[in-house]
Amino acid sequence: MRRKHVSFGRRLAFGVRLLAGLRKPDIQAAGVYVRARFGGHNPLSWLRFSCWALRQAFVVMPAVAAGVDVARPVSRTPMWLDDANPWADYPWSRLAANSTGDSELPSEVDTVVIGAGFTGAAAAYHWAKLATDGRRLIVLEKDDPASGSSGRNEGLVVMGRYFAMVRDRMVERLRVVRDELGESERRALAEKFSDVYCRAAYRNADLIEQTVRDEGFDCDYARAGWVQARGASEQESLVESVESAAARGHGDWTSISPAEVLERSGMRVEHNAGFSLAAASWHPAKWVWSLIDAALQNNCVSLFTRTPVAQIESFAGGYRVTTPRGVVECRHVLLATESYSPQLEPRLHDAILPMQEQAASGLGGPPTMAPHVGISGAWFFAGRYGERVLFGSGGSRVRDKEAGRNWPSRFLSWFVAGEMQSAFGQYELQMTNEWSGTVGYTPDEYPIVGSLDDAGKYIIAGMCGSGSGVSFNAARCLVERILNHVADRDADDDYPSDYFSPTRLLDPANHTWP
Ligand SMILES: Cc1cc2nc3c(=O)[nH]c(=O)nc-3n(C[C@H](O)[C@H](O)[C@H](O)COP(=O)(O)OP(=O)(O)OC[C@H]3O[C@@H](n4cnc5c(N)ncnc54)[C@H](O)[C@@H]3O)c2cc1C
Repeated sequence: MRRKHVSFGRRLAFGVRLLAGLRKPDIQAAGVYVRARFGGHNPLSWLRFSCWALRQAFVVMPAVAAGVDVARPVSRTPMWLDDANPWADYPWSRLAANSTGDSELPSEVDTVVIGAGFTGAAAAYHWAKLATDGRRLIVLEKDDPASGSSGRNEGLVVMGRYFAMVRDRMVERLRVVRDELGESERRALAEKFSDVYCRAAYRNADLIEQTVRDEGFDCDYARAGWVQARGASEQESLVESVESAAARGHGDWTSISPAEVLERSGMRVEHNAGFSLAAASWHPAKWVWSLIDAALQNNCVSLFTRTPVAQIESFAGGYRVTTPRGVVECRHVLLATESYSPQLEPRLHDAILPMQEQAASGLGGPPTMAPHVGISGAWFFAGRYGERVLFGSGGSRVRDKEAGRNWPSRFLSWFVAGEMQSAFGQYELQMTNEWSGTVGYTPDEYPIVGSLDDAGKYIIAGMCGSGSGVSFNAARCLVERILNHVADRDADDDYPSDYFSPTRLLDPANHTWP
């Protein structure tokens, strides 16, 4: 592709300004890129990276910038949260206006859910539908609903990760935690893990679609799939991944030709791409807000925003949940706190790793980019939502206490804007928003869904940037367990303990493996 001509003076000014503005998130993103693209952290890789970065800063990015108008200042508010949050400061703001809502925290309830993102809102929704005996659930959110990753993401409803991806990550991990097994036994075990994961994710996707339709949720839901570009060296593994998924009956994961990629997404690629047929797009914050709206129709569910949980202590009868607004005693507590979880449970420090992902959005963008379809290039993701285009990337680990930080790397935004230009051709864009969030990764990249103490303290976390592919069904299963409708080994429970219990990570030697 021919680059726009930019004078030497403008290139110099752009590059100097960019390099002078480098901050911690830029350095952290560089660390990830060096490892992924230049083969690890050694002096030669850093040297090669430095040459690459200088070329980006003084040649590639200034040409991209010639078509991009960056708002001054760029808003740190995620695109989705530009829409007014109907549950902001709930119930407190409504009390002030003499309207609905509880006036104070109750001292005792059956279940406390911590966090009001995809996961916490889903738990509240299922509880409202399934609790028939008046048992009470409250959601405590330290900020406002969808203020975590759930309001900061790409807006894709994923079918979870595909079969071979889950299998291969799990094989790597089993080499560490199940070294007594032979390689073929580990592979067979990893396949079982992947199978169970994919089935749960497929059910999750169907439940979401059905819920949007049945409830009439206004969250811009549309199923148009997700294109994932693959290079020449990845073609063999793409074929294997499609065949292995099909052999297990996981028909969502397919491969499409460059012509079909162009037709579906507008992206130009040279090789076949992976394609998740049933992935969808939505307004992720509206999904959360709609779930809460439906949940609060049942008065056995309450929401308290701007109420951070400082501590969870266990006692003979259950748990004492401490917040600045008061203490609540409960029989069950559910951590729906994803990347923030180690802040409440420090022993999760090496189990739930907060990783930064970031995105930017603006008006315009590649005119050929198709709406609603998920698009992943080698180093970026992107999507068109009405007049706006969203694009991003990420993957650097941050400290536990930095979970939820909103501190994007501008260098990374320019890099992604350039990658998008390579894939779609030149475009004009007015970049208005740029933000980051954190997602929770586990060392085996497999979620944890279950009890943290073999009693009433539950968690759903470690969804590795695929929260829409896990949270709704996982919350259903845990709510059913808490309500004693099913046990974790029932056919209707898609998250059996052998696979998903936190002991898999916290105490692998004593975990009951499938
Ligand atoms: C840039 C980006 C792009 C992404 N793209 C996609 C995508 O396209 N599709 C997809 O499926 N996933 C995507 N993800 C990941 C997805 O957003 C997450 O997996 C999902 O939002 C997790 O939902 P959650 O409810 O578990 O966690 P969160 O949404 O993070 O919610 C946790 C909540 O807990 C609250 N909380 C934390 N600690 C406390 C406390 N002590 N007391 C009270 N409340 C507390 C937080 O304020 C927060 O609201 C992306 C993420 C990012 C950042």
